[in-house]
Amino acid sequence: NTPSTSSSSSSGKEVENVVIIGSGPAGYTAAIYAARANLKPVVFEGYQMGGVPGGQLMTTTEVENFPGFPDGITGPDLMDRMRRQAERWGAELHHEDVEAIDVKSSPFTVQSSERKVKCHTVIFATGATAKRLRLPREDEFWSRGVSACAICDGASPLFKGQVLAVIGGGDTATEEALYLTKYARHVHLLVRRDQLRASKAMQDRVYDNPNVTVHFNTEAVDLVSNTKGQMSGILIRNLDSGEESVLEVKGLFYGIGHSPNTQLLKGQVELDQSGYVLVKEGTAKTSVEGVFAAGDVQDHEWRQAVTAAGSGCVAALSVERYLVSSG
Ligand code: FAD
Repeated sequence: NTPSTSSSSSSGKEVENVVIIGSGPAGYTAAIYAARANLKPVVFEGYQMGGVPGGQLMTTTEVENFPGFPDGITGPDLMDRMRRQAERWGAELHHEDVEAIDVKSSPFTVQSSERKVKCHTVIFATGATAKRLRLPREDEFWSRGVSACAICDGASPLFKGQVLAVIGGGDTATEEALYLTKYARHVHLLVRRDQLRASKAMQDRVYDNPNVTVHFNTEAVDLVSNTKGQMSGILIRNLDSGEESVLEVKGLFYGIGHSPNTQLLKGQVELDQSGYVLVKEGTAKTSVEGVFAAGDVQDHEWRQAVTAAGSGCVAALSVERYLVSSG
């Protein structure tokens, strides 16, 4: 489809109040607030997560820490509820990827595969992607033994009281390993290099903890299952000797970082060294007036559904205030 040159949202307006990019907890929460403020938000939900809207939580099973669901809720169910809530208040949802944006001149332009929309404000909520090693059997055990979030999954019955492994040697991995010792019987930290990259304080905490064993010069080769088809270990290789062996663990956590989905924003708003959107502290404001960011795309520290949703709320309220103040 050739995108039309004028606004082609269903509102028929020349210039929309706000375009929201992303359909994770940040994007949908922003959409709920903006829609309730009668701003008629246009939301581009994206195709990134296997072709479905809803963001990272579409790839998980139980979410046990989102307030309001004492018995837990599946990721897809939670996201479906947020989506329906946004729709109910009148958000215009497009299941399309944004392919280009221009926030260098006002009104801004957002172009998807299907349409070009002009808008006074934009909320970026394109999330981040956990880095994975793409081991041959990883997809088979994703969310059934393999995770990238200790805070999200560490306390789950699947991992509680078990022997687990964390891959990585930086602050993320050491933090995950230490966090997991609260629930796990033992944690193996698999480090490719011959030293940890984590801060000295984190290194000390790891070395002082009898429930963490650090394996240097070690890489994961693949995952191993038992006769019931459950994950039962990791095939590891010692990079010095080339020797391979099976480390018996019930779970593997990646602690090798995240990549923010900010390719679209390069050269448009200020990003930090790791590519995350820089927002003014305690706000959703980016370096460009009228452009706001929410969720994991601007947060390399907390990365939780509830913090993403909270920042989506802040972004939408900021848009409302900005539109009033700019007339
Ligand atoms: P995301 O959820 O990453 O959503 C980003 C959205 O942007 C996606 O819809 C994507 O399609 C869209 N997008 C990207 N690029 C474009 C584009 N060009 N055009 C249009 N759309 C685009 N947190 C918890 O609090 N509890 C948990 O139990 C928990 N479990 C997790 C389990 C797993 C397996 C993973 C991976 C994460 C988990 N998290 C959990 C973390 C949580 O999912 C994230 O913190 C949260 O989803 C971040 O929300 P977000 O809205 O910022 O971004």
